[in-house]
Amino acid sequence: MIDFIIVGRGLAASVIAHTLLEEKRSFKIIGNQNLSSCSKVAAGIWNPIVFKRLTKSWLANELIVYLNEFYSNCERRLDKKLITQRSIIRSFVEEQEKKLWLNKASLELSEFLDDTLRDDNSLDLLNCKISKQVGLVKQSGNLNVIEFLNATDHFFKEHLMDETFEHEQLKIDADHLSYKNVIAKNIIFCEGYLVKNNPFFNWVPLKPAKGEILEITAPDLKIKEHILNKNGFIMGQSNGTFKVGATYEWTDLDEEKTQKGFHELEEKLAQLINCNYTITRQQAGIRPSSSDRRPIIGAHPGYNNLFIFNGLGTKGVMLAPYFAKKFVNFYLQKEALPTEVNVVRFYSLYAGEKK
Ligand SMILES: Cc1cc2nc3c(=O)[nH]c(=O)nc-3n(C[C@H](O)[C@H](O)[C@H](O)COP(=O)(O)OP(=O)(O)OC[C@H]3O[C@@H](n4cnc5c(N)ncnc54)[C@H](O)[C@@H]3O)c2cc1C
Repeated sequence: MIDFIIVGRGLAASVIAHTLLEEKRSFKIIGNQNLSSCSKVAAGIWNPIVFKRLTKSWLANELIVYLNEFYSNCERRLDKKLITQRSIIRSFVEEQEKKLWLNKASLELSEFLDDTLRDDNSLDLLNCKISKQVGLVKQSGNLNVIEFLNATDHFFKEHLMDETFEHEQLKIDADHLSYKNVIAKNIIFCEGYLVKNNPFFNWVPLKPAKGEILEITAPDLKIKEHILNKNGFIMGQSNGTFKVGATYEWTDLDEEKTQKGFHELEEKLAQLINCNYTITRQQAGIRPSSSDRRPIIGAHPGYNNLFIFNGLGTKGVMLAPYFAKKFVNFYLQKEALPTEVNVVRFYSLYAGEKK
């Protein structure tokens, strides 16, 4: 009997698999990569700053220390370069913003905001539309998500069942579960927004947000290993193309790319760069955001061997490693999950019989 069945093939399932491996637990991953493209389209950026209010992102210190350690371990295990440390360039629209930035850079956000303003010469940029002086965010970067997913699939190929999980085939007993020919102690569902099709957890309140992104080539553009942010972002990739993102849409929730998304991204691009470009790809995905914008993790109210790891929303890269560890500590060490992420907060929405 194995310890866990992991359902999903995205970022959440992959991070859970590596975390369980580190704890020497056995598992099978059951997932169909073609069901949801959210992780596959993500730019993979982590950013400790919320620009709107110029505040620190929730748990930024803890999450960033942990993500660097976790993905570096994965780089060694998978023998792939996965993370790139990049500073985020923030243009200022008003003089007041600059003042606020410098003030916070010298005080409460000194870890994350560079206290020296820069110009494009000192950053060695070409054809970027930026204010005369810009601020730099420190300790930010990106994960090459698609490389991480592919390498993880390959690394765990012996543990992988490449198929759609059929919930009605799951048989639940008090001390074990069976799914087709797999017998496990537990199951953890990492299905992203498709949790809506899961009869055991379809009551968790997701507020999914569709997102679209472009890939472009622009031979006359130089951003180096920075991320340019101004009502959108542009970031270079190792293959010489650039990712431009991203849109947010809460009503039209299919995974199709749209003309509306295309035009919105072109408009963002017009504010970011100043040179010719060719659009080589447009992609769309549905972010599994939760109603209170916190992850949703923990045990089913009716079955103590069914678990969920979801609600990663817009910040999966930053949140997943730290909270996968919290989940494993909860399962193995019986450590309480932080209340903000514990699925217990939504138990009142569960209509079934509680144990
Ligand atoms: C345009 C865009 C840009 C983004 N940029 C960033 C970014 O820069 N930084 C960042 O941190 N986050 C970003 N995100 C968000 C990020 O993609 C998510 O936080 C993260 O990928 C969610 O991962 P997940 O595994 O929970 O969900 P998903 O990626 O949706 O994965 C769910 C998986 O479960 C599988 N699945 C579901 N049901 C079944 C079933 N019944 N049987 C088998 N398999 C099943 C699906 O096929 C899929 O593989 C972005 C998202 C979008 C759309």
